[in-house]
Amino acid sequence: MAKKQQERQQEIIGSFHIKDFQDDLLYWFERQQRTLPWRQSRDAYRVWVSEIMLQQTRVETVIPYYERFMERFPSVEKLAEAELEEVYKYWEGLGYYSRARNLHAAVKEVQEKYGGTVPNTPEEIHGLKGVGPYTAGAILSIAYGLPEPAVDGNVMRVLSRIFRVEDDITKVSTRKLFEAIVRRIIAHRNPSFFNQALMELGALICIPRSPRCDACPVAAHCRARKAGVQETLPVKKKAKKVRVEERAVALVQREDGRWLLHKRPESGLLANLWEFPNVEYTEAENAREWLSVHMYETFGIKCIPQDLVMEHSHVFSHLQWNLYTYLCGYEGQEERRGSAIAKERVMWVAIEEMDAYPFSVSHKKIVDALREGFQQSLL
Ligand code: SF4
Repeated sequence: MAKKQQERQQEIIGSFHIKDFQDDLLYWFERQQRTLPWRQSRDAYRVWVSEIMLQQTRVETVIPYYERFMERFPSVEKLAEAELEEVYKYWEGLGYYSRARNLHAAVKEVQEKYGGTVPNTPEEIHGLKGVGPYTAGAILSIAYGLPEPAVDGNVMRVLSRIFRVEDDITKVSTRKLFEAIVRRIIAHRNPSFFNQALMELGALICIPRSPRCDACPVAAHCRARKAGVQETLPVKKKAKKVRVEERAVALVQREDGRWLLHKRPESGLLANLWEFPNVEYTEAENAREWLSVHMYETFGIKCIPQDLVMEHSHVFSHLQWNLYTYLCGYEGQEERRGSAIAKERVMWVAIEEMDAYPFSVSHKKIVDALREGFQQSLL
């Protein structure tokens, strides 16, 4: 390690009372930790699934998903032998579907290469798809008791405050700095609880706005609090501007009552999820006309977009969709058109069969509204 980095760590840790800090943190966690379904077992597969689900997602949202997922896929073997389509179905609504895809691919690798046992070395575990430094550290420490750091945004917030570090936490170098610090302060007698306690502190006490310093078990060690600057930390560079797309969505129903669905491309955003056909349009284009052209050119479907039945938005990390859903009058299909899209990626589906298709969150909302006859959608 570069001498400069070592000096920086030493400067930050300085006279910090590591042992007292560990004792205070662990004492609190042993008594105050929440009862969560993934804390009932230290099985590495279960820890892994929970950590992937918890990325960018609130604990309360994850709990029912985790329970359903575990009931259906209780082991590496069960998940490895499942079809991705079914895995998506159990993930539907959680968002960030690449997590499910990567988890499924990595679990298959664990089944084939490691006989179904999640590896317990940093090198092997880092090699698995979708397993970044945080998830690797969480699995190694929580399931295998190894003194590895598990540093995510929450932990960086807590540590920025405790050590009063003003480095930009969106930078990789800052994460690496905090990982190095955790390696030096982690409690070797219980790395699992130490990492979980830092996460729990970030979730319950050292929250983003108005940290609850009066209830904090490590307030005595906190330099930001001592200086009264806890609310100014962590330093986080402004997020990138979110790009907004206006999209027109077509609800096309055939004479037999079935609706037209389309499967998204195999890679990229929301890969392989089902949706109603839709197209981006700009201010210069009339949404109805543009949608009609798109339906004909892409699917060979002749239809006339009529009533606007739903308007809603969906925000991704870097993108916002504003969706305008039109009920379309179906006028027939021309087979020679729409050849750019494989036949198996376009389906006519009855409303009662739609539960079998994994949708993105925004299109699942359209399915739900369609079932309810769009009672609430334009409110
Ligand atoms: S004292 Fe306040 S700022 Fe410091 S770790 Fe505790 S909650 Fe966070």
